[in-house]
Amino acid sequence: MAHDALTHLALSRGTLDRAAHRRADPELISRLLADPATRVVTVTRDARMEVLSHESEQSAAASEATGTVLVQRSPTEADRDLMAFFLGEETPEDGAAGGDPTAHVAVVGDAPDDDDPAAGRWQNLRAAGLDLGARDAGIFTTAQALMFWHAAHPFCPRCGSPTAPALSGWTRRCERDGSEHYPRTDPAVIMAVIDADDRLLLGRSPAWPEGRFSVLAGFVEPGESFEAAVTREVGEEVGIAVTDVTYLGNQPWPFPASGMIGFRARALGTEITVDPVEIAEARWVSREDYVAQLRSGELKTPSGISIAQRIIEHWLGQTVTEAIESGGGSAAAVHW
Ligand SMILES: [Zn+2]
Repeated sequence: MAHDALTHLALSRGTLDRAAHRRADPELISRLLADPATRVVTVTRDARMEVLSHESEQSAAASEATGTVLVQRSPTEADRDLMAFFLGEETPEDGAAGGDPTAHVAVVGDAPDDDDPAAGRWQNLRAAGLDLGARDAGIFTTAQALMFWHAAHPFCPRCGSPTAPALSGWTRRCERDGSEHYPRTDPAVIMAVIDADDRLLLGRSPAWPEGRFSVLAGFVEPGESFEAAVTREVGEEVGIAVTDVTYLGNQPWPFPASGMIGFRARALGTEITVDPVEIAEARWVSREDYVAQLRSGELKTPSGISIAQRIIEHWLGQTVTEAIESGGGSAAAVHW
């Protein structure tokens, strides 16, 4: 099934029940931070979290399928002075206790200066996102998105007065006019453009290192459908008209506030005319070319947690790792 939607997107795996109905309780955060059963994570202002790798915790290795977990702890006195977000709750799977769901809270704080590599490591989402299990990847993604939004919105867009967090971290309220402001997610489309020979169009942003190529992407504009954004962006960036724009999948991309919506599109021509402001170079690759150029080091892949890499692998018919290890000559010959 060549057109199946993308699955297993690293940052789309969150499992917490967000329990949004609890957010309006003005005492929720203070009550949860007084309860030792609450699970607390710290997210730093530079978007790192403490993770534990089971490679260094051999005793735990047998009990967890994933190698890396977020460090979740009981609340401390110091947490009460920090900006905090209620992330949601989870009900124990075994149901044995029949008890209350476990509440999860993130606080914005600092990593210790003497971060001990043996006991814990403070990693960013790009480094940890692929290794974390579903629940923890979702916690990291949500906490980072909220942290960035609060940091960037200290003032009211109506009157310029300071705003303060409300709704358990899910809004900010103007201290002067009472207006409420919600965290925003900016949609961006990302698309595999394919020609009549099933070749994939790759481009390199001027800001990227030599050799780093990905599929094209761009922000959706006001008043524009996602499909129209795909057509416009491809036209602007490489001068190619496309048709048959088909949805593939999406994932949150909190760097700092995007949601990436993936598509494939069929090119009506192959002549590339790049917009040098947006694209340093662009090229068509066959599956065989792509794998050969990866193996030689001429091409580098996008970030492993990105939807871009999943889109490329969907076209390729196998993972990048599989393609490099196998030599790639026998990539699945599905007409995409
Ligand atoms: Zn205001």
